[in-house]
Amino acid sequence: MSQKINGVKGMNDLLPGEIEIWQFVESTARTLFGRFGYGEVRTPMVEDTALFVRSVGEETDIVGKEMYTFEDKGGRSLSLRPEGTAPAARAYIEHSVNNQEPVSRWFYMGPMFRYERMKTGRYRQFSQIGAEAYGAKEPAQDAELMDVVVQFLEALGLTDVTLNINSLGDDNCRPAYHAKLVEYLNAHKEELCADCQQRLERNPLRVLDCKNEKCQAVAAAGPNVLEFLCEPCRAHFTDLQRKLGVLGIRYVVNHRLVRGLDYYTRTVFEFIASHPALGTASTVGGGGRYDKMMKGLGGPDVPAVGFAMGLDRLVLLLKESGKTFAQRPDLFIAVADEGSQDEGLKLASRLRREGLKVDFDTRGGSLKSQMKRADKSGARFTLVLGEQERTTGQAKLKPMAGGEPVPVALDSVAATVRAQPEAPAPAPAC
Ligand code: AMP
Repeated sequence: MSQKINGVKGMNDLLPGEIEIWQFVESTARTLFGRFGYGEVRTPMVEDTALFVRSVGEETDIVGKEMYTFEDKGGRSLSLRPEGTAPAARAYIEHSVNNQEPVSRWFYMGPMFRYERMKTGRYRQFSQIGAEAYGAKEPAQDAELMDVVVQFLEALGLTDVTLNINSLGDDNCRPAYHAKLVEYLNAHKEELCADCQQRLERNPLRVLDCKNEKCQAVAAAGPNVLEFLCEPCRAHFTDLQRKLGVLGIRYVVNHRLVRGLDYYTRTVFEFIASHPALGTASTVGGGGRYDKMMKGLGGPDVPAVGFAMGLDRLVLLLKESGKTFAQRPDLFIAVADEGSQDEGLKLASRLRREGLKVDFDTRGGSLKSQMKRADKSGARFTLVLGEQERTTGQAKLKPMAGGEPVPVALDSVAATVRAQPEAPAPAPAC
């Protein structure tokens, strides 16, 4: 017997039954981001490795440890994208979008790849929905972007999520904070976990978001980045908070929020869910301002702010909500005899063309077995087609939730089904 081949570790298949939740999240995002004027952008899944090294940063976990990097047949170093901000920025620069409009608002969705240690809510291929606003440095833009996320989560029905915000300052004020932090952490090096002792050398800010309790205790007592902000950065952060107040968005200021990427300046934020289903993978999304990135990538001096949400985690939360996302069939067509099989196939085809969602068992079989399948399908109605129905052109719609059958002419099934009031879905038979 041939050996079975399994999918790649950390990369999941999405099958019907679950995919409907994903489609709900994706279509909600499209509608909502559209309302805010964000247009969809699709970039390739593979980019020049240097793009991520220069934007996300060589010393970050993502670039240092987690990228799927390979050489193509032409000897170029390419990487599967680990995130969407840098590819969108690359496309923005490459297409000189800043010469066409002063402000651009883009969103994207799709798979990202990171070679991470797996657990619930953390995978090696995962999906993000993200948005980027280019060209506005004002705090109102940061607030508007957070409003997108707030309204997106509301539209999904996910309300138990807390917005955390912080400011990391800019090139002017961050070096002093950085120096103080390194000095402080070095004095407490022995108390840090092994990972953080290494982070201290490579990327000290990352120590602040380590989940280890001892590291958190050290971080909590350390220097507060907000006390180091220069006047313009302080004013930006104060105004952002005022704008969030104007929009009625609730938030907490968390001075230990740093995020794991190098490109942020000033505002950073995260949306954290409190549901136990996510375990320690409780951050459903995050983002921040990256005013220097475009220039650093050889592009124009354009300020930008963006976020990314993890779809896998949103889907986990929606699964917990117990809501149904699959659209049930309007009608199940069962055939009473072999001679009605072709007519049944034809009727199903016609009704689908007329816009109904119709289930029809192409295997035929006994009427009893077809009725069992009709029950299982969750269809609103079943129509049995036999010789009598074919001859008279009249049939009955049997409501699967119970109740009186509705007489129907075979040439007006779609209209009759549509005219019936919606009853709750029947519990599917086991
Ligand atoms: P980041 O780009 O690291 O800021 O991540 C933004 C969001 O993407 C996170 O808040 C998560 O919801 C999601 N995310 C990041 N990494 C993973 C992963 N390995 N598996 C699943 N979701 C992830």
